This record gives sequence, C-alpha cells and structure tokens, in this order.
Amino acid sequence: MKITIIGTGYVGLVSGTCFAETGNDVLCIDVDRAKIDLLQHGGIPIYEPGLEELVHRNVGEGRLRFSTNIKDGILHADMIFAAVPTPPDEDSRADLRFVKAVAKDFGEYVLKYTVFVMKSTVPVGTGEICEEIIGNELKKRGIQVPFDVASNPEFLREGSAIKDTMEPDRVIVGTESEKVKDLMTRLYAPYVSPDRPILFTNRRSSEIIKYASNAFLATKISFINEMATFCEKVGADITDIARGMGFDHRIGATFLNAGIGYGGSCFPKDIQAIIETGKEHGYSFQILDAVEAVNKSQKKKLYKKLTSIIPNVEDKVIAVLGLSFKPKTDDMRDAPSLKVIKKLQADGAIIRAFDPVAAANAKKSLSKVNITYCQNPYEAAENADALLIITEWDEFRNMDLHRIKSIMKTPLIIDGRNMFHPKDMKALGFKYYSVGRPS
Ligand code: NAD
Repeated sequence: MKITIIGTGYVGLVSGTCFAETGNDVLCIDVDRAKIDLLQHGGIPIYEPGLEELVHRNVGEGRLRFSTNIKDGILHADMIFAAVPTPPDEDSRADLRFVKAVAKDFGEYVLKYTVFVMKSTVPVGTGEICEEIIGNELKKRGIQVPFDVASNPEFLREGSAIKDTMEPDRVIVGTESEKVKDLMTRLYAPYVSPDRPILFTNRRSSEIIKYASNAFLATKISFINEMATFCEKVGADITDIARGMGFDHRIGATFLNAGIGYGGSCFPKDIQAIIETGKEHGYSFQILDAVEAVNKSQKKKLYKKLTSIIPNVEDKVIAVLGLSFKPKTDDMRDAPSLKVIKKLQADGAIIRAFDPVAAANAKKSLSKVNITYCQNPYEAAENADALLIITEWDEFRNMDLHRIKSIMKTPLIIDGRNMFHPKDMKALGFKYYSVGRPS
C-alpha cells in the first residue's frame, strides 16, 4: 500500500518505518527541514533502540523516503496518517493547531479517494473538526473528492516503540466506513493476531479509548504512589505490597512501581486534556483530578527528602542520575528531572548530571546555571554531597557502588525509582532513602 505519514517524530518515524518493514511504500513528511535533511543523509533524529537499523534497511530497499513536500505526500498515498504534536495549550487543553494544519493541507491537495487517519492523540470530536476543515478546503477549490476521516490512536511506548508497533497489544480503528475497515484490515494484517486483535469502533469511541487507557495507567501510578506515602508513615514496604497485589490477575503487576510520579510527553498532557474535555461537556472527572493532585505532590517529595537531610543546598554538590522521563529514550518532555534540577538551580546547588542519551535534549530545556553534564555516573558522583536517582536506566543498576561511595563526599543517595535494596545499601555504608520503603 502507499502510505504517507505527516509528522516524522517519535510516533511518525517509528510507525512509518514499521509500515515500510512489512512491504508498504512509505513517504514520511515533516515541516522540520533539519530533521528531514538528517534523515535523508542517514541520520536518526531520536534515540529509540533498534530504529536506526530498521530505517536504514527500509531506505536501502526503497520502501521508505523522507520529504518536506506536503503536496507530494498527500498525492502519494491511499492513506495519510497524521502524527503531529497535540501539546497542551495555555488552558491545558489539547492544542489542535498542528492537526488542523494537516487537515487543511489534505483538503488543499487531495485529488482522489484518500483516507485521512488520525494517529495523534486528540479529544473526542476532533474527527468531525477535520472532516469540516477538509470539506471547506474542497469547497474553496470548487471540486468534490471522496475521502474518509478515521481514528487510529497510537499506543507505542518510547524505548520499546518498535516491538510495540510490530506486536501491538491491540489496534484500535474508529470508523464506520466499510472501505476504511477493509484498508486498515489489510494494512495491519501482518501485525495483529487473535490475541492481539484489530478492534473497530465508531470514531468518537476510538478517540476516547486512547485517553481512557492513559488515564487508567496514570491512575495506577498515582494509586501506588499514594500507598507508598502511607507505607512511609507506618513502616511498611511498598515493593512488597505491589508484589502482593500484582499476582492478583484482576490487578496485574505492571504500572505498580512507586516512584517520583509520572512525566513524559503523554501522561501529564493527556490527563489534563481529558479533564478539560470533560469540563467542556459539563462533566468533572473526580478520579482524574485526584490522580493529578497525587502526581503533583509526588514530584515534590524527592526534593523534600533531600532538604530534610541537607536543609540548605546552596553550594552543595548534587549528583543527578537520569534526565529523560524514562529509560531507553532521549525524550525530555515533562521529565521529572527538569523540575528537580530547576529547583536545585534556584536554591544555588552545584549540579553534576548524567544521562546515557538525554543530555543533549536536556541542555535545550535547562539554563546553564551551575550544571555540568558528565560522561558517566562516577564523574557525576565525584565529591558529591548527595546523589539523586531520577530515571531507572539499567546502567545505574550495574554501577560499582563501592566506587561511588569512595568518591562521594557524603555517601547519601535519594532514589526516586527504588532501584536498590535498602538493606544492601545500608550494608555498603550509604545513607539511602527511597520511595515507600523503610530506610
Ligand atoms: P513529535 O514532536 O516527536 O513529532 C511530531 C512531528 O510533527 C515533529 O517532527 C514536527 O516537526 C512535525 N509537525 C508539526 N506540524 C506539522 C505539520 N503541519 N506538517 C508536518 N509535520 C508537522 O511528537 P510525537 O511524540 O511523535 O507525538 C505525536 C502524537 O502522537 C501526539 O499527539 C502524541 O500525544 C501522540 N503519541 C505519542 C506517543 C509517544 O510516546 N511519543 C505515544 C502515543 C501517542
């Protein structure tokens, strides 16, 4: 099939590459010329395990191309996938500027029956908005071209995006058009199976499935974080509690890791967006308000722990391990590290930060004040008064803790991700504080 992806970011580049891998002819479009130049010259603009090899193979075999020419993109394909950003606007609603721009382009250039597929995460009713924009553009041109607008939300996770795309838990398609159902069934045939089905719903339900899924996962995180706070008060261990709960099949073990709170490019904005969509429709999401409130307070706790031990961090050397919002990605959007580092900077601490891949992106979001980006955890820990663990990269699990202890000024670790066992850390001579566990 001929596929165009508009928006060649974390979602668009992975989706386009995986569609090419199963034999489709894919054209990836972006407005960012530097990004497209880089891709055209064999570079990969994001860190995603396994992506580089897959892009190179599909480009080499002629199934994957990159361009900034939107008109070519729209004329190329049977199906156009919009994978553009939907960041929060000033009122925390999903900003549909980019989505609307793509719909307008589609209406401006389309010449034959084409399906407009929404992969971006968009509030319920956005399908109708796009339909109207496309219809208006066609009217302006004085022509009639048949088209369909379908919803196909994306569920990939950065860090395991290729596996998630090649073997999705499910594929959701919101459409009532039999033609679209047929096209999407053929497109997704290599990826789905009876255990990992393609599910057709109406467009509005499909749009909501994405938000409901993220809202539920965020709820699990805030739930376990709230339990962790309670554990700290009563001397219990949240990791045992999560294990004890997780074996119950009705609950499941995933997303029950207490920590620093959720961040990243999706959960915070999507939870806020569905709360705001609810308000627009006269509904107030009581559970989601609480999920957000717990998450906000959770993010402050690590810093509070630090200042309960070092009340004045001015001129203290603080090592920060992990900058990206989660391991195996360089994505810094809404990363918890940003808040912690900004607070440390405001309070005059000397920060020595290390992340295996995200430092370059972190530099774009942080001021240069009092921060050194280090090459490894040992360089960061050198002479530190405290070490904060913000992201649970495997590299940190395998650190030489004896060495870390010997080079720190004070062997104090505050672990926002429960990476180590408190007893082991005590035996090694660290003062070790984690989340929801006796220290
Ligand atoms: P991204 O910022 O990485 O990529 C979006 C790309 O779209 C950028 O390269 C940008 O230059 C380009 N773009 C913007 N306007 C454009 C236009 N008019 N024409 C062509 N290109 C344009 O964003 P992302 O993380 O890939 O997210 C895209 C959507 O997918 C969002 O709605 C997001 O919520 C959703 N989503 C993201 C993830 C994730 O893990 N990143 C997972 C599931 C869903």
